[in-house]
Amino acid sequence: MAEIPEYVKNVLDTLAAAGHEAWCVGGCVRDTLLGRTPEDWDVTTSARPEETMALFGSHAFPTGLRHGTVTVRRNHRSVEVTTYRVDGAYHDHRRPDSVTFTRSLGEDLRRRDFTVNAMALGRDGTIQDPFGGREDLRNGVLRCVGEPGRRFDEDALRILRGLRFAAVLGFKIEPGTAAAIRRDRELLRDIAAERVRVELMKLLCGQSAAEVLRRFPEVIGVFWPEVLPMVGFDQKNHHHCYDVWEHSLHALEAIPPEPELRCAALLHDVGKPATFTADAAGVGHFYGHGAVSETLADGMLRRLKCSTEFREAVVRLVAWHDRDIPRTEKAIRRALGKLGERDLRRLILLKRADNLAQAPEFRDRQKELDKGEAILDRLMAEDACFSLKQLAVNGKDLTELGLSGPAVGRALKVLLDAVVDGELPNQRETLLSYVSPFVTEL
Ligand code: ATP
Ligand code: MG
Repeated sequence: MAEIPEYVKNVLDTLAAAGHEAWCVGGCVRDTLLGRTPEDWDVTTSARPEETMALFGSHAFPTGLRHGTVTVRRNHRSVEVTTYRVDGAYHDHRRPDSVTFTRSLGEDLRRRDFTVNAMALGRDGTIQDPFGGREDLRNGVLRCVGEPGRRFDEDALRILRGLRFAAVLGFKIEPGTAAAIRRDRELLRDIAAERVRVELMKLLCGQSAAEVLRRFPEVIGVFWPEVLPMVGFDQKNHHHCYDVWEHSLHALEAIPPEPELRCAALLHDVGKPATFTADAAGVGHFYGHGAVSETLADGMLRRLKCSTEFREAVVRLVAWHDRDIPRTEKAIRRALGKLGERDLRRLILLKRADNLAQAPEFRDRQKELDKGEAILDRLMAEDACFSLKQLAVNGKDLTELGLSGPAVGRALKVLLDAVVDGELPNQRETLLSYVSPFVTEL
């Protein structure tokens, strides 16, 4: 089992030396027992927040005093130290009306969401595990602490956290917990979009995201009803061996676990059900589905209050996924000019994933993508010019030639297009002598 890091031991020791109980708790204990490296370490203690504050002095910051949380800085790292607490009554499916501090570790563990998250690890390696978390970890089972329906009624975010942990850990959801997740899903409507988004993005990046989405589409449909028509939608097209939802899940599995990529893979065909037509032979077509997917994805990401940068990156990938793969140098330079290197590489990943999720006999598009990617690599290695920033002349050069106003922009565009299309080399002298005869016309 992994060791508790020194800076955390130091926090535990300081609390213990002052006569308080202190334990590592929650995700760090779960991850340590799984042999994973925890992202951060949380400590739970019998010390009251003001006692913790006094004990750590200038190293303590009151980041969540109302819930009993003090952030302690040690060796440039932070540890969240929270007082043992019980949550009072819940009335809004979101947050307890009040929290009460307690001196009982058992009570603190009981308020936690899942058995695998309700264990404490002591300085000496002892483990407190009143709800069978270790056994559930061994068996790969996610199970609520206590009665699932009651726990979801208290805080509906736990419904989505359940799916998130199942996806990230690759766990099965215990049948009683799974049934309550489905039954109580509508309670998620009371949860703030930002909190839904955080859990959803972690879910989508989990190793078992596709499996969880496959089993619980109706839960995702509470905040993203647009996905529901995809489920079971027969494409009636020999390129496809899966329905629209299955195809999207296979694409999601085939793309690296980054939120933008996973969202783009899941939503790239969300416009298909609305654009379906069957021809005289009964073959299905989805003309214009790229644009409809783009519009739907935009609305879905706005609803979850995603950042503009995130939303635009995903929507651009969705919009572009249906175009032909650029394979010639000219086409790749142009795509670079429109998308930039990062998004063009992401588009290639999306096109690969989309193709891998098609019927087996059509998965050979990978070779074309390899070819496009090889050209892209070469262009980048050659420092090829595809944007105004890289052009060997700038606005000032053209002003000195006698151009002014909008003509400067027009001339730059002409030069950039010529360089991108390979008609002119990106050399200052060549470019200037190319435009100078036209100065009066531009
Ligand atoms: P991660 O590795 O993603 O941080 P985590 O288990 O640490 O996972 P956090 O959201 O950081 O998850 O929460 C820390 C701990 O607090 C959880 O392990 C759980 O014990 C408890 N907890 C967090 N949110 C809730 C909740 N909504 N209801 C009950 N307990 C919760
Ligand atoms: Mg955590």
